[in-house]
Amino acid sequence: MSEGSVLIVGVGGQGVLLASDLLATVCLDAGLDVKKSEVHGMAQRGGVVISHVRFGAWVHSPLVEEGQADALVALEWAEALRWSAFLRPGGALIVDPVQIVPPAACADRRTWTSRYPPMDPPSTGGRGPQLCLIPAQALAKAAGVARAANVVLLGALSTRLDFPPAAWEEAIRRLVPAAVVEANLRAFAAGRDADPLPLPPPGPRVAPGGERRFAVAVVSAWCKGCDICVRICPQDCLRLDSLGLVRVTAPERCTGCRLCELLCPDFAITVGEEGGAVVV
Ligand code: SF4
Ligand code: SF4
Repeated sequence: MSEGSVLIVGVGGQGVLLASDLLATVCLDAGLDVKKSEVHGMAQRGGVVISHVRFGAWVHSPLVEEGQADALVALEWAEALRWSAFLRPGGALIVDPVQIVPPAACADRRTWTSRYPPMDPPSTGGRGPQLCLIPAQALAKAAGVARAANVVLLGALSTRLDFPPAAWEEAIRRLVPAAVVEANLRAFAAGRDADPLPLPPPGPRVAPGGERRFAVAVVSAWCKGCDICVRICPQDCLRLDSLGLVRVTAPERCTGCRLCELLCPDFAITVGEEGGAVVV
């Protein structure tokens, strides 16, 4: 493919931008015109990161339009779904089915019912994308660098593009920190050789072992009574007492979403599974 449009998507910290830099470098080294466009506003808070890469003899716009991407490389399942409408009919959807559930999307961790989209391959759209599930995180870990799932997926992508493996390896040597070059080269090779996972049956995630219950512990000495946790709790489990300190007034309603723990500015709350370790 001497011209094409690729979308690389994921969440903050997954290496979307490095992956798109590597692809752009390979294209530039091949003498092609390349344009890139990125959105990574909330990346440091685990927000969405998306990079458009377009290459060819002459590229006019850096943006891939809906229905025009030749390939969508997704480092996370929900992001694959979010952007799948950008694939052209027959385009390749290369995705690590790893699921990163945002706290706000997990309606109930007791039963793992959540608003997170289920593993339902047909929901990637009626456009007939060639869905290819690659266990990129696991392969990266086996290669010696857990964060190289992005490079594993590039390896899988490289089998669908015309650039020789040596061009990708050269780009990895140039852009990846020296200490992890060899591991990234192994990750790239693993992605090229990876057998796609079988497509899972559709359906919601259900935790093995039935319903779970959660315990919320508050370190009163650290609580300054700012009220953030009380207001954010979707189950109305928390109250300020007459001293202005947080009390867990309805623990049975807690779904383990951990919003209170994540948003407490003083790290005064810990949420753990009942019977598990809650350190106070
Ligand atoms: S968010 Fe933290 S500091 Fe604020 S009231 Fe809740 S426990 Fe206390
Ligand atoms: S107490 Fe905390 S973990 Fe439990 S439901 Fe409320 S915000 Fe979520």
